Amino acid sequence: MKNSDQTATAAATSSSPARPLRRRFLGLAGGLLAVAGMSASLANVLAGQRLVKPRLLNPCHPGPLPESLRASPWLTGIWQGLDPAQVWDCHAHLAGTGDSDSGIVLGAQFAAPTNPAFYARRLFYMNAACAAPRHGKSASVDENFVQHLLDLVGEMPAGVKLMLFAFDYFHDDAGQPQPDAGGIHVPNDYARRLAAAHPQAFEWVASIHPRRANAVDLLQEAATHGAKAVKWLPAAQNIDPAAPYCDAFFAALARLRLPLISHCGEEKAVSADAVRYGNPLRLRRALDAGVRVVIAHCATKGDDEDFDNQGRARSSFELFARLMDTPQWRDNLRGDISAITLRNRKPQVIKTLLERKDWHGRLLNGSDYPLPGILPLISPAALARSGLLPKEAVADLELLREYNALYFDLALKRALNWRGNRFSAQVFATRAFFENT
Ligand SMILES: [Zn+2]
Repeated sequence: MKNSDQTATAAATSSSPARPLRRRFLGLAGGLLAVAGMSASLANVLAGQRLVKPRLLNPCHPGPLPESLRASPWLTGIWQGLDPAQVWDCHAHLAGTGDSDSGIVLGAQFAAPTNPAFYARRLFYMNAACAAPRHGKSASVDENFVQHLLDLVGEMPAGVKLMLFAFDYFHDDAGQPQPDAGGIHVPNDYARRLAAAHPQAFEWVASIHPRRANAVDLLQEAATHGAKAVKWLPAAQNIDPAAPYCDAFFAALARLRLPLISHCGEEKAVSADAVRYGNPLRLRRALDAGVRVVIAHCATKGDDEDFDNQGRARSSFELFARLMDTPQWRDNLRGDISAITLRNRKPQVIKTLLERKDWHGRLLNGSDYPLPGILPLISPAALARSGLLPKEAVADLELLREYNALYFDLALKRALNWRGNRFSAQVFATRAFFENT
């Protein structure tokens, strides 16, 4: 159990809801970074219904955006100097409950309403995606999840696309899939079919565990069917990127020039060993093999062992920076800026990312959808207090989130400003990297 879970458990039994409420959600945020890694704190919050207030749950206003918002300078400003056709959100989770022909499989703990803690967590995540039957047109959560995404992308200028992530099973050390260990399984085929059916809105990203006996064949097949990258979440899938068993997979990735998007930094893990798999330095093996690597979230949360300095604890972000500043990986290494605005990140990492203009050509925007739809996870007001966002932007951004979490994420990132430093347009023009042009 991680600290956040323990904190939450303690907080949930507290008789004073006012102060712990925010803390609980801060603790929750880390766990929410992946479908597979949601923290128990949310469940505790939801289990105590007294704490569920409208401002914690996304009201999921149906579109279209009100005219006043559409005319907001924080919305129109997004597209100044930016061609929508180059804007691919490179970090979007595809989720659901498996109540369609998606093939999504939820781990036992998520699937059972008899386990109220996990069940509530799942409901909250689906609220962020406005996927509950009462919000959507279908009785199927899977279908509503996709339809809502199509609606959100449809409100943006033509050309904007999302890269939808499949999610492979946790595999044990013997290479056997363990459906109940990883939380959720989203088949490659489902992501591929959605991209094929909605080419105006979606691209797809495969997820393949390198311990699968046919991993290289699956990778070749994914590339043939238009996958734009491969996504790993090492701690939740039990993948050690520094292990020799990855070598054949890395060789194939390098040959196909298919990027590997790998989660780095803190993540909920099943074992203590697996926690370490998110260390950015472990990706050196992939880089040495010539793989094009994207470090998800720029490793903006948590600490890791510094192998170069007797295993001392260092912020994961510092290790990310070291890799970014290593000359021989200039061409192949990227960082995605998804989730950097979450409240569990230190403002200083955002400031550094804004100031490091020399990195901007190597940063890629992603939203980590549906996380931007979870109201307590990102606070525009707090970012404004940190000097990272103009105060005048806060009200429009907060309202925008209730209509369109994707647009909110993009508008927020475009508005971030530290001492005159903003993310340059190239951070958002991600398509060329994934099309390898
Ligand atoms: Zn993510």
